[in-house]
Amino acid sequence: MVMATKAYDKSFREEVYKNVDSGEDVKLCMQCGVCGITCPLRDKMTHGPRQIWSLIRAGKRDEVMDSPDIMLCTSCYTCKVRCPRGVKVIDIMHGLAHYALEQGIVPRAETAKFGKVFWDSIYKTGRVDETEVPMRYTLTAGPIHGLFNTLEMMDIGRALLSHKRMKFKLGPGIPPSKKIKGIKGLKKMLDKAQAMSPGKEG
Ligand code: SF4
Ligand code: SF4
Repeated sequence: MVMATKAYDKSFREEVYKNVDSGEDVKLCMQCGVCGITCPLRDKMTHGPRQIWSLIRAGKRDEVMDSPDIMLCTSCYTCKVRCPRGVKVIDIMHGLAHYALEQGIVPRAETAKFGKVFWDSIYKTGRVDETEVPMRYTLTAGPIHGLFNTLEMMDIGRALLSHKRMKFKLGPGIPPSKKIKGIKGLKKMLDKAQAMSPGKEG
């Protein structure tokens, strides 16, 4: 009896090669698994980079585009320096996340919210305010969650304050964060960058 085999859908891999930053590097992967094993976030990821590349090759568009893994990468570079084929793992992971966001898919809401708060801080003041950013981020889940989260983090906050690693604030914007000199010039650059890559601030 002849067994029928189902051919992989090649359309998604072609889409990735064409639209995702360094997407064509997926072709170089030999599935050795070094990236997945050495990733410090492997326990938090469902698939990890190696399996994500397999899913791309297999045409599993939804699994890849909805995977929180593509927004969990912290750019630690462990995989990139160890990959025997020089695959630009980080660029592809971030590229996939940006590509998903551009199409209105949010694979991991927490990362998208943090990215927005981070971007707003840079855009408005030219710096990342260590007190303002976590305060605003924690409030993205609502005031009650924000309050509980703040209470939970109280000990860490006290330690950071006592070692002058964080400035005291009564709340977001109280007092307002200082702006860097030349903030107007920075905003112009960021506006230009955003116009070239819409959606990348998320
Ligand atoms: S380390 Fe490189 S070659 Fe090995 S699975 Fe990861 S991307 Fe592929
Ligand atoms: S750069 Fe990203 S994918 Fe690579 S090891 Fe670090 S967290 Fe994992």
